Amino acid sequence: MSTVDNDALGGLCQFVRSASAADLVMAVEIDADGRAGWAASSASLQVAGFNLLRSGLFERDWNGEPADASQFRLPTVLLHALKGAPTHLLFVPAPSFGAPLSGLLLLWKHAPAGGQLTGQLPLLASSVTRLLSARREKARELTVHNQFIDLVESVPAGIVLMEGDGVGAVINERAADLLGCQPGNHRAHDLAEPMRILRQRCDNHAELEQAYAAQVGNVSFASTLNWALGERTLEVDTHPVRGNGEFGRIWLFTDVTAELLMAAELRRLAASDPLTGMPNRRHFEERSAQIIAAREATGHSVAVLMLDVDHFKKINDSHGHPAGDEVLKVVAKRCREALRDRDLFARFGGEEFVALLAAPAPEDAPAAAERMRTAVAATPIMVGDARINVTVSIGAALGEAVAGRDQALLDDLIARADEALYRAKAEGRNRVCMAAA
Ligand code: GH3
Ligand code: MG
Ligand code: MG
Repeated sequence: MSTVDNDALGGLCQFVRSASAADLVMAVEIDADGRAGWAASSASLQVAGFNLLRSGLFERDWNGEPADASQFRLPTVLLHALKGAPTHLLFVPAPSFGAPLSGLLLLWKHAPAGGQLTGQLPLLASSVTRLLSARREKARELTVHNQFIDLVESVPAGIVLMEGDGVGAVINERAADLLGCQPGNHRAHDLAEPMRILRQRCDNHAELEQAYAAQVGNVSFASTLNWALGERTLEVDTHPVRGNGEFGRIWLFTDVTAELLMAAELRRLAASDPLTGMPNRRHFEERSAQIIAAREATGHSVAVLMLDVDHFKKINDSHGHPAGDEVLKVVAKRCREALRDRDLFARFGGEEFVALLAAPAPEDAPAAAERMRTAVAATPIMVGDARINVTVSIGAALGEAVAGRDQALLDDLIARADEALYRAKAEGRNRVCMAAA
C-alpha cells in the first residue's frame, strides 16, 4: 500500500476537518455492495470492514449541508471511532473505479455552523476520487508484483530477467544460488561477471563461449544449450522478452541432470539383454548399420560371426534352466573378452550370439572366431558344484561395404554366417566355418 497516497488522503482529511470544524473526517473506499474498506482519516484510527449499504447515506442527495445524524444508521465501529455518537454528518460522494460508493464522511459531535465547504465540494470530491483511484492502482500493482515474485520463485528454474532498459535485472533464489549472489534486483551489468564465471566452470565452456560470442549484439537471439557442470547438467534457455516495449532478455536455468540420467538408463535398458547385460539384437542391428555406413566411405570389409551354443538343450535338461542361464552369462563374458573393444558383440536370441568386426584383415574373422571358440571350450563352466563342459559352433562371413547397400550387406552377412554355422554344426560342432566369398 502506498503511504504517499495514504498520507495525501490523511492530509486532505485533516485539512477538511479544520475547514469544516468536524470532529472526524474519513475518506472511505466503498464497493458497490456497500462494503467499506478503510482508506484514511483525520485521526489515526484502525477501523476496517464495515458495511454502509443500509446506512441511508447513499439514498440522500447531498448538497453540502450537514444532516441530522439520527436519520442514519451508522455501524457501531464508526460511532466508537468518534468516541460518542455524532449529532451531524455530511457525506461527499467520490466514486472511484471499482469502488463506486466511495466518499468523504464528516462527523460532528455538536451542531456545526454549516456552509463552509459548499463551494469547494466538487473539487474536494474529485481530489478524493483521484487519490482513492491512485491508491487502488498502487495496491493492484503491488498484488501483481507479489504474484510475479511468487510465480518466479515457484518455477523450478533459476531465472535471470534482464529488463528492457538494459540497466535493471531481477534474479530469483535458484539463480542467486547458481550465481553466488543475492536474489532480487541487480544492475544488469553486475550480473555479467557471475554468469561468465558460471560458464567458465562448465566442462563445455569453450563451446558455450563460442555459441554466445557469435550472438553478441543480436537482440532476438534465442537458444537452449546444456551447461555441463561436472555431475550436473543445466539446460540454459535464453530468449528475448518484451519489457516496456524494449527488448529485455530472460535466462532460464533448469537442472536436467536427473532427466538425462534417466534417459541414458532407459536407452541402456532398451539396448541391452537383461540376462547377460550384452547389447541385444535390436541394438546390434542399429549399431552395425551405423558401423557399415561409416566403413562404406573407405570401402573397408566387414565380418559377421554367428555363434550358437552346442547341445544347449541338454545343459538345460541336465542342470536346470537357471544353470543354463548362468552358462549363457559366462559364454557371453568369455566371448566378449576374446574380441577387441571396437568389435560389436550382442546376444542375438536364445543361445545364439553375434559379432560384427569392422575393417578386418582377411585372417581376422577366423582368428576372432577361433579365440571365442577356445575361450568357451578351454575351461568347464562352474555352476554351483557342477562342472559343465560347454562348446560353441561359429559361422563367419566377410563382405565389402558398398555405398547405399548397408542393410542388404548386413542381411547377406547374417544369412551367410548362419549357413556357415549350420555347416559347423553338421560337421560335428565345436568348430568355426567360414562362408564362401
Ligand atoms: P544345437 O547344438 O543344435 O544348437 O542344439 P541346442 O540344444 O543348443 O539347440 P536347440 O535350438 O534345440 O535348443 C536351444 C535351447 O536353448 C532351447 C531353449 O529352451 C534354450 N534357451 C533359449 N533361451 C534360453 C535362456 O535364456 N535360458 C536358458 N536357460 N535356456 C534358453
Ligand atoms: Mg540355437
Ligand atoms: Mg544351440
